[in-house]
Amino acid sequence: MPINIQNIEAATRENRLGAITGYHGTIKDLVSKATCCSLKNRERCFSQTSACSAGCAQGYLSGIVDAAIVNHAPIGCASDAVYGNTTNKWGEKIRGWKHTNIRLISTNMTEEDTVFGASEKLKEGIREAVRRFHPKAIFITSSCVSGVIGEDIKSIIDELQAEIPIPLAPVFCEGFKSKVWASGFDAAFHAILTKIVKPSEKKTNKVNMINFRGSAKEEISRILAELDLEPVFVAPFSTVEELSKMSESAATISICGTLGSYLGNGLEEQYGVPYVKSLQPHGIAGFESWLRELGKVTGKESEAEAYLKEQKKKIEPELAEIREKLNGYKVVVGMGPSFGHNYIRIIKELGAEVVWGATWHFDQHYDHGTCPESSRKLSEEETNLPVSVGDQQNFELLNLLNRLKPDIYISRHGGSAVWATKMGIASVMVADEYSAFGFQGLLDFGYRLIDMVTNRSLAKNLAKRVKLPYTDWWLNQDSFSLLKEEVV
Ligand code: SF4
Repeated sequence: MPINIQNIEAATRENRLGAITGYHGTIKDLVSKATCCSLKNRERCFSQTSACSAGCAQGYLSGIVDAAIVNHAPIGCASDAVYGNTTNKWGEKIRGWKHTNIRLISTNMTEEDTVFGASEKLKEGIREAVRRFHPKAIFITSSCVSGVIGEDIKSIIDELQAEIPIPLAPVFCEGFKSKVWASGFDAAFHAILTKIVKPSEKKTNKVNMINFRGSAKEEISRILAELDLEPVFVAPFSTVEELSKMSESAATISICGTLGSYLGNGLEEQYGVPYVKSLQPHGIAGFESWLRELGKVTGKESEAEAYLKEQKKKIEPELAEIREKLNGYKVVVGMGPSFGHNYIRIIKELGAEVVWGATWHFDQHYDHGTCPESSRKLSEEETNLPVSVGDQQNFELLNLLNRLKPDIYISRHGGSAVWATKMGIASVMVADEYSAFGFQGLLDFGYRLIDMVTNRSLAKNLAKRVKLPYTDWWLNQDSFSLLKEEVV
C-alpha cells in the first residue's frame, strides 16, 4: 500500500504492514509464512500492559529542537514526557548543548470533557504553546480519549491556522488503535511528511539519517565524507527547517528498519529521494550491506568498497580473540523486530550462540513491499532459530528465560532487562541505537558481552534477594500456553 500524504493520518502497522504481536515458531516458518501471505496473528487470552503509540510519537517528536507538542489528552498520557525529557538531555549532552526541557503541553482532558468535548482547551493549549515556546511548528497529538469522543482535531487546527502562521500538524496516534507502538513513529512521520517537508528546489549531497539520539554522529560524518556525502540527523535534534529540506537530499538511510520504513519510503515515493533498503548498520554484514546500498544509490560504489575493505581488515585479529572468548555462551535476544533480527546476526558474528529471538512485533513487509531484510537474511541461514513475537509480554518472556537459562539476555527495552537480571541472568540493555554500529562498534559490543559473563555478581545477588511475582504454577508450564490458536 503506497504512502498517501493526501490522507490525514497514517494507517496502523497492522493494516498497512500486516504487523502481528502473537506468534511462536521458527525464523524460517515466520519468514516463509510472511512471504506467502499465510501468517496469522495469534491473540492472547491474557496480556500485561505494554507501551502505546502516542508515547512513541510524542517521545520522538519532542526531540525536534524548535517545535512544540500539544497533547490533547488526560494528563496521564503525558507521563511519557519524563522519558522524553531524559533522552532529550542525553542527546543534548552528546552535542555539548545546554540542557533544556522538552516543549510539551497537555490539555488535561477531564471526565466532563469526554461528554462536552474540549475544543476550547485544545485552542488554548496551542495558543499557550506559541506564547511559551515560540516554536517553528506545533505537533498536536491525539489520545484514546480525544479519539473515542471523536474530537474534530483537524477542524480545530484549520480554524486556528489563520491566526497562527506556523505549521500546525495533527498526529493521530491514539493508543487503542494499534497494538504495535511503532505505529506511533509512522503517525509522527506522517505529520512531518504532510505538514513540514517542502518540495525540493535543488538536490544536495546530504543524506537523511533517521535515528534517535545520534551518539555516532561524528563517526558517521567521517564515514560519509569518504563518499563525499553529508549526513543530516533526523528527526530528534534537528530543526524544523532541516526537516523541511529532506526532499532535497541524495538519499535516506536509517539506523532501524522499523523506524525508517515510513519516512524513508514516503520521501522516495513523494520526492524521489532513494531510501536505502538494507540490513541495519550493526556488525560486519549489516554495515557492509548498509554502506554498499548507500554507495549504489548515490553512485559512490567504489568509494564505499574501498572504505569497507580497509576498515574490515583492521578488526580481524581483535575479532578473532573476542569470538574465542564468547564461544559457547548462550544468548536470548528480546527487542523490537528490526533491532532483534539484526542483533541475532551480530551476536553470531561475535561467536556466541543465540538460542531464542523474541521480538515485540513483526512486520510481514515494510512499506517498500518486501519482508524485512534482516528477517530474510536470518531465514536464509542454515540454522532454524526458534523465535517468538509478543508486545513485551513479560510473563511469557520470564517463563521462557526460566526454561532456557541463557548466559546473557540482550534487550533494547529496560522493562524486560530488569526482570531478567532479577532472575539471575546477566542482562545487557542496548539503550544507545549505535551500540555495535559498524566494525569498531562490533568489537566494543563484544567486550561489553565479555564483561557481562565475566562478572555476573549483580544478577546473582539480586536473584538471591528478590521474590519474583510469578509463581511456579506459571513458570512450570509452556511459555506460550496463553496464546490462542491461529484463526484461519
Ligand atoms: S493514548 Fe491511550 S494508551 Fe496511550 S497513554 Fe493515553 S490512554 Fe493510555
